[in-house]
Amino acid sequence: MPQADRITENVAGVRERIAAAAAASGRSADDVTLVAVTKYVGPNVIRAVVGAGCTRLGESRPQQLWSRAAEIDDLRVEWHLIGHLQRNKVQRTLPLVAMIQSVDSLRLAAAINEAAAVSGRITPILLEVHISDDASKHGFEPDELDRTLQDLAGLEHVRIGGLMCMAGLEGGLAGAQRDFAALRRLRDRLRANCPPQIDLRELSMGMSGDYEVAIREGATIVRVGSALFEGVVE
Ligand SMILES: *Cc1c(COP(=O)(O)O)cnc(C)c1O
Repeated sequence: MPQADRITENVAGVRERIAAAAAASGRSADDVTLVAVTKYVGPNVIRAVVGAGCTRLGESRPQQLWSRAAEIDDLRVEWHLIGHLQRNKVQRTLPLVAMIQSVDSLRLAAAINEAAAVSGRITPILLEVHISDDASKHGFEPDELDRTLQDLAGLEHVRIGGLMCMAGLEGGLAGAQRDFAALRRLRDRLRANCPPQIDLRELSMGMSGDYEVAIREGATIVRVGSALFEGVVE
């Protein structure tokens, strides 16, 4: 099968499963945004993914996002940064992205705010939460967020739209479900007395192995990579 057809088929399959999981949680497919994570593939495959209707793309490494964005800058897409951002890379990243999903400290949020202010823009961000037991993951600690939301609310050039997490590497689907449910509960609790500038509507959670579980736990954004590229050889 030609590569573009394979990708079209993979995208359709993922969209069907998203719709089914959304329906199972009483929502519609439109309530869940698919971000296609392109970190494994090159520009030709990315073009095929965009051709198959995925116009929101995610990269976890800033430098790779910069080069991918340049390689397909003739296409209308929205880039989401989904991995750790060092403060010295903020300025270069900001003009390229529609959203930074992986803001994991107040210092980073402040740096984004400052750079956004200089260029007169308001940058949509999500707050990454370290919800699992994994020691290696970035993110705000859940208790830390209670205290930090007030400070974050003072940053006028970022728009905080919700929370993001990755499930722990161990623990399988049951562990992932527990982590996703914990993020949703945290969101619900924070929302109850959240500063009015902050809207915690979005929950970005779920990847190829667990996006259906995430949607059933309330995900509004899923970040899917490898499932879109099954059977695709470059
Ligand atoms: C790579 C990555 C994904 C996608 O992972 P797949 O398992 O390939 O779907 C999602 N989120 C983040 C933060 C990632 O780094």
